[in-house]
Amino acid sequence: MDQPTPRRIAVASANLHKLEEIRAILAPYGFDPVGLDAWPDIDDLPETAETFEGNALMKARALAELKGVVAVADDSGLEVDALGGAPGVHSKRFTPEATHAANNTKLLAVLDGVQERSARFRCVIALVTPDGAQALASGVCEGHIGHGLVGAGGFGFDPLFLPVEAPGCSMAELSAAEKNAISHRGRAFRQLPGLLEQLGL
Ligand code: IMP
Repeated sequence: MDQPTPRRIAVASANLHKLEEIRAILAPYGFDPVGLDAWPDIDDLPETAETFEGNALMKARALAELKGVVAVADDSGLEVDALGGAPGVHSKRFTPEATHAANNTKLLAVLDGVQERSARFRCVIALVTPDGAQALASGVCEGHIGHGLVGAGGFGFDPLFLPVEAPGCSMAELSAAEKNAISHRGRAFRQLPGLLEQLGL
């Protein structure tokens, strides 16, 4: 029997690591996520809000309006309790260089000598239609910040993040499938079919 054609869904992200994860998370649900690389005329989307919800909505809304498509966007970050929830929505630009290496070095430095190292990754997704209907979902992955970089998988803060659900491992030591099973992004994007249903799509 022929396989059904995967359903294309526009994802308002140009982050290739994220897109790869989103593709793997959504494939079992029959989706074919299309990232911003499909629209080379779009430089960057605005994300100037002070909340994950605000940024996810801003990005999805911009793509839905610009291209007349149903768009989904995620905004995500790391919340460290000892830092009052920082870097949070500013995770990508935690340092002026805004590289993963610089961000990880800074996180280790600011937590030097700090015992209480609980943290979580948070992801909010927004689904927006060209006529402005919208729906939101979120996912969280609890863990702790380690004392050094461990593992080569994933991206961003993964080598420093020790998920509660993967004892003895950093997020960067997990396979892609293991990460997606417990990650904030996996938990948020697995709600996409429900969000589409909510909007009657
Ligand atoms: P966004 O592209 O604005 O959502 O920013 C996401 C930033 O949060 C990334 O640049 C990373 O610093 C951090 N981040 C989000 N999700 C992850 C993850 O799954 N692993 C590691 N770092 C992440």
